[in-house]
Amino acid sequence: MTLRLLAGHPALDFVNTIDPREGVHRVDHLRAYEDLVDWAERAGILGAADARQAAREATRDPVAAARAFDRAVVLREATYAIFGAVTGRRPAPADDVQELHAAYREAIDHARLTQTGRRFRWRLSSGLDVVRWHIARDAVALVESEMLGRVKRCPGSGDCGWLFLDSSKNASRRWCSMEGCGNRAKLRRFLRRRKRRTDRRAVGSLQTRYLAAGSRASGAHPR
Ligand SMILES: [Zn+2]
Repeated sequence: MTLRLLAGHPALDFVNTIDPREGVHRVDHLRAYEDLVDWAERAGILGAADARQAAREATRDPVAAARAFDRAVVLREATYAIFGAVTGRRPAPADDVQELHAAYREAIDHARLTQTGRRFRWRLSSGLDVVRWHIARDAVALVESEMLGRVKRCPGSGDCGWLFLDSSKNASRRWCSMEGCGNRAKLRRFLRRRKRRTDRRAVGSLQTRYLAAGSRASGAHPR
């Protein structure tokens, strides 16, 4: 899978596994449980050992893995609806909030508080739903944090709609990526400016021809 991780937050990168996010040309990069595990490992959500464990469980019980995959996708869409509403300054749909709530409670039921040195952390147990639990926990941490106001939606052409967390110093990030949507917008601005200049020149030469024709007709000396 070559999908880029640009969102700056795992829950938003998970939302962006559909590319573009809007419109009729959407491509879903998660088609099966294996894709989910591969993506989660690449995104740093699962370590190599946890990813192997999840893959082994899926091989043992493909039907249960397919159901877990469906549950992960349901959470992804709820997460998209919630953060999409945040970017549009709308209240999040109640059903989607309920879905995140339920997934988070499942995650907590499968987590153990552990201490390593002086640090404490919730360690999630393994299971087919492990990616869903991680995403639920990360998404809840984000909706609770002050950074929520920094969640943005890319306005790029082609219905991009990817979500990202703007962690730039002055909150000036506009695009999912400067190389992709940012550059395409720059190119469009350049082409628009060039077209305006060409149009102005065309109008200018038309005016000159019209005045010359007028002066020939009236016999007046053109200024
Ligand atoms: Zn974009």
